[in-house]
Amino acid sequence: MLFLQTAYVAGALLVASASASSCCNRLEKRLGSSVSFPKDVDYNATMSGYWSIQESSLQPACVLQPRTARDVSKALKIISKHGNCHFAIKGHGHAPAAGFANVDGGVTIDMTSMSSVSLHEGQSIARVEAGAKWLDVYQHLDGSGVQVAGGRNGNVGVGGLLVGGGISHFTTKHGWACDAVVNYEVVLANGSLVNANKRCNRDLFLALKGGGNNFGVVTRYDLATFPLGDISTTSISYDISQRGKVFQAFTDLLDSSRYDPLASLVTSLLYRSTSKAWTLASSAVYTKPVSEPAVFANLSAVPHESLVRNITSLATFADESDTPPLNWLFATVTLKPSAQYMQDMFDMLNNTVSSFNPEGGVTWSVALEPLVAAMLKSPKDANVLGLETAQDGFIVLISALWPNSAVNAEVEAAARSVTSAWETGADAKGLLQGFQYLNYAAPSQEPLRSYGKDNFEFLASVSQKYDHAQVLQKRVGGFKLSS
Ligand SMILES: Cc1cc2nc3c(=O)[nH]c(=O)nc-3n(C[C@H](O)[C@H](O)[C@H](O)COP(=O)(O)OP(=O)(O)OC[C@H]3O[C@@H](n4cnc5c(N)ncnc54)[C@H](O)[C@@H]3O)c2cc1C
Repeated sequence: MLFLQTAYVAGALLVASASASSCCNRLEKRLGSSVSFPKDVDYNATMSGYWSIQESSLQPACVLQPRTARDVSKALKIISKHGNCHFAIKGHGHAPAAGFANVDGGVTIDMTSMSSVSLHEGQSIARVEAGAKWLDVYQHLDGSGVQVAGGRNGNVGVGGLLVGGGISHFTTKHGWACDAVVNYEVVLANGSLVNANKRCNRDLFLALKGGGNNFGVVTRYDLATFPLGDISTTSISYDISQRGKVFQAFTDLLDSSRYDPLASLVTSLLYRSTSKAWTLASSAVYTKPVSEPAVFANLSAVPHESLVRNITSLATFADESDTPPLNWLFATVTLKPSAQYMQDMFDMLNNTVSSFNPEGGVTWSVALEPLVAAMLKSPKDANVLGLETAQDGFIVLISALWPNSAVNAEVEAAARSVTSAWETGADAKGLLQGFQYLNYAAPSQEPLRSYGKDNFEFLASVSQKYDHAQVLQKRVGGFKLSS
């Protein structure tokens, strides 16, 4: 494959930076057809693998699709020596913010060709290459009698979800998905291929459990499995006028001392600016095949428009369709339980969105997820999220999705204004918790600092130790440790 020194963006000819060009050139010499350039089929396949338009509209100078950990190691040896060669690490491209897993004029390392899954040690460990998506994992393990904790939507990448924490259907029983990683195979910024586990590189092992893409390119995760048969799913949709009762039933569940750890719940609100209509729903999963789990009785008792129960496998339930390409924005807050404050949050959001209808329209989604039980009670060395002092409550993910890239700044400003009003209101009532879940955070938020001063300083020290030149701080996008 010939190296092209030019890249086309929407018809305009851009000259790729000299540094990225020479970096891509060296990569191609060493790694051959794993490196592709604008207009190549492999390059385009990577670009169409992003979930948000903000990410897919960036134009890297070249894309590397490594097939082995040694390929990643060779690549990072070259990249780290090229003083100004910026790069991105891509899993399944579900982080919506521009520059988190793609890079304009640099090198995008797309891990998705490395997606094997295998069971080891009497089925107690699943070895998962970092470019897999969760559906690959669940389908491979389906029928084996064991499963692992990972994304609820099967299209989400293993790579990104696990370096940011990971909420699964099993989080309230087994803790954050990253808690179950027993070994990371990881390529450091200088190209060294190392393992990190309880015996070897222990500080790196802990830092990777929530520290994001700041320590290297993970090439394989070894995950502890647990026995699993079928699961029970309940989807309930309500008229928005029932929100007070739904918020109360949701809030009543947020007590670790009484919480049934087999229960997984997302209650969500959706508003479309084009139709000016709200919808309200609960997606409730019980991780045993119980047809009517008692824990969801109050949510089911609220007058509803529909209620569908099913007994199914994790692999089948996670097999969701992808959304069409859209602009996306995520932001998050973590709160203590209060049905009244949920109502206040609805009113604040409604005030903003009911008078906001940018051209092309925008859909707002608010997902409310319990933060209870094993999510808070992990042993101190299970992860670096700093939740030891957090209290029972819930994590809020607010998303905006819209087709028209010309209104990005307006939508981002509206989302910032709502999130900040929620935070200020909650703070005044003593309901705000400091934690910001990294995988739901907006680029303007600081999830790594939200883990607390000691954890942030620990992460910064591990970054200095394993990446002396601070390559991953200076040349890779995402939530960083350098100020
Ligand atoms: C539809 C949808 C459903 C979701 N469901 C859930 C859910 O159930 N639970 C949950 O907790 N979160 C969920 N999320 C959030 C999700 O965890 C994050 O978006 C996550 O970052 C996606 O990982 P990815 O590999 O697909 O994304 P990418 O955008 O490819 O990567 C995300 C970040 O991780 C880094 N990264 C990826 N792979 C590696 C690697 N091998 N080594 C080092 N760094 C790496 C990237 O550099 C990037 O900064 C969901 C998101 C979406 C859009």
